[in-house]
Amino acid sequence: MDASRLRSRDDNIHRCSRHPTFFFEDGSVILRAENTLFRVQRSYFASQSAQLRDLLDPRIQDTLWGIQFVSLNGDCADDVYVAAFIESIYGGFYMTERELNVETFPRAASVLRMSARYGVDRTRDAVMTLIKASTERNEVKLYWLKLAPEGPGHCKQAADQEHSMLHPAPVVALLREVGCDDTPLLAAVFHDLSRRSWDLSENALESLEPLSAADRECYILGVTKLRVSYVLNSRSPPTIQVAHAQPVPCTTGLKTFWNGIAKDLHSANAETMADPMGGLQAIMEISWKEFTGTICSQCHTEFLSYMLGQQTGMWDGLGATFCL
Ligand SMILES: [Zn+2]
Repeated sequence: MDASRLRSRDDNIHRCSRHPTFFFEDGSVILRAENTLFRVQRSYFASQSAQLRDLLDPRIQDTLWGIQFVSLNGDCADDVYVAAFIESIYGGFYMTERELNVETFPRAASVLRMSARYGVDRTRDAVMTLIKASTERNEVKLYWLKLAPEGPGHCKQAADQEHSMLHPAPVVALLREVGCDDTPLLAAVFHDLSRRSWDLSENALESLEPLSAADRECYILGVTKLRVSYVLNSRSPPTIQVAHAQPVPCTTGLKTFWNGIAKDLHSANAETMADPMGGLQAIMEISWKEFTGTICSQCHTEFLSYMLGQQTGMWDGLGATFCL
């Protein structure tokens, strides 16, 4: 490497090596991230955003081998982030929500960080959409994993599947890092987090490590509010307003059903406590079997719409619950 022609103040250029993929011979600018050199087409990159245009301003006088040279520094100079970002600029970043998992998250996170940092909105929006879809998928998947009929190996299988799912704590940290102001998305990720563990003890809170102190506080407070209101709501059966010739059988049927369910809820079963939203869903599903012959269809419909209202209210209130 001919460092004598480098008019940069960078004196560690000898340590650098060319990136195996993103060092194009016809590139018009060399970027340095840590000890890796990338060589890309300046005009193409500059066309992606105003920030990249400024960064790659040709009036910058540093050169290496007679080519414009820009040394990246600060928190976006990690060579792995930069490689993932350059790949995304060349259209090589494609991931579906099914593919976003523990292994692939660092790559998606790098692309999001860098695209937010350099104002490449198209790419940033694509990764945000991916995270949103993955969170929605987790919401449904976790519920079914918990409900799935128990069989030999089921618990281990469910635990393995849950383990491979992307953990929401680093997602919260990433969304905060890129200044995400999408409250419903943050609320959904906080909720996802609340379902992973029923325990709020010191040891269990280790998984919250990626969160800021303020977010950890909001999380613990939110989880407590969510669980307390769930238990309180389970104390008495919903009031069903249906005009009957003889209301007695339905009222009794509802009371009997509710007392049975409420008893379970009050037992503070770990899984139910960790997942009030799933608890409400389970009550609705159990009611189809339990109400047969004890409650008229009109009352059942009313009951389901009441429970759905509870669930929607809980969901819509998540932003406020977690103080987001
Ligand atoms: Zn009825």
